[in-house]
Amino acid sequence: MQTREYEKFDIVRVATVFGVKLHPIQRNPVEYKALCPFCGDTKYHLGLNRAKEQFHCFRCKESGNSVTLVAKLCGVSNGEAYRMLKKALDDPFLPLPRLPEATQVLTETPIKSVRERHSVYYDLLSLLSLRPMHRENLMERGLSFSHIHQFMYRSIPLDPVFRREVLKELSSKHDLCGIPGFYRDKNGDLQMFVSKYSGMYIPVCDKDGYIQGLQMRLDVPSGGSEKKFRWFSSRHFNEGCGAKPWVHVVGDVGADEACLTEGAMKSDITSVLSSGRLFIAVPGVNAIGELPAVVRSLGLKTVYEAFDMDKRSNPEVKRALISLRETLARCSVKCVSCSWDPRFKGIDDYFLAKKQYEEQMCAA
Ligand SMILES: [Zn+2]
Repeated sequence: MQTREYEKFDIVRVATVFGVKLHPIQRNPVEYKALCPFCGDTKYHLGLNRAKEQFHCFRCKESGNSVTLVAKLCGVSNGEAYRMLKKALDDPFLPLPRLPEATQVLTETPIKSVRERHSVYYDLLSLLSLRPMHRENLMERGLSFSHIHQFMYRSIPLDPVFRREVLKELSSKHDLCGIPGFYRDKNGDLQMFVSKYSGMYIPVCDKDGYIQGLQMRLDVPSGGSEKKFRWFSSRHFNEGCGAKPWVHVVGDVGADEACLTEGAMKSDITSVLSSGRLFIAVPGVNAIGELPAVVRSLGLKTVYEAFDMDKRSNPEVKRALISLRETLARCSVKCVSCSWDPRFKGIDDYFLAKKQYEEQMCAA
């Protein structure tokens, strides 16, 4: 019987050549510690055993030898990985192979639990303030000083030096890996996602008040085509993590009927203007994937759909409404479509106008 003898490589050398970051201090000449490139590790969970030519992550349990390490890192077959290895290590005059951008240690990390996300986002918001222009905008829309405080709206930090301080403070208390919005840049430094626009963070909470994620309401030029709302998310960033279409819950969670809007801030405002009525908000008319679980957990019998009044003319919204009714019917929840004076686009605009009218009547 013929046994095939595999060529041995120095796994530490292989790992460094292919971009794995070693711990600056190594205590054991055989067992090296490194950052695992597969799970967003920040605490050097990867062990590289030179004697056995094996790697093993104590965090995500990924393991193998030099060839499989390169194959997994570069997203190629073991045969191709072997050829890349030979080329990189055997000939000192050949340039080292550059990894394609997308596989260059670009790993999305598993998302952390809602409680862990809440404690990071709560601490982040506690470090930030609200700029006067944002506060004025919220007050114009019908919120009081104390409501703004209660909902924890904060302005997105624009100054990079201040952001670094915020990141330092947060990372001293939390592991930010698996929290959407945070990632590591190519130097391995912790970063948070920012848009080129200023704006506000809007906490998207579950029925128990935990912050599931943060939406960003950006100060985009009005009339432009750029999106005003987006998630604080780091999907497609190194060691980043994406947001999910979380449903926001605000108001009397004991009620068996709720109003459904698009956007957390709109539901916060309308809940306040309707004396604490239960509102739930999806991030978009088509982003209703998380809705069934939420209506079931709240025990809702009726949902009053209160999407913006352009639903009558917008064919995309019309289609979304059909799918919404079907989804709610499958959850045995009655869906009632709300209409109001179409001069007011959003239900929050309508409630604000109604409140102002009533106040004028009282004053007269
Ligand atoms: Zn790992």
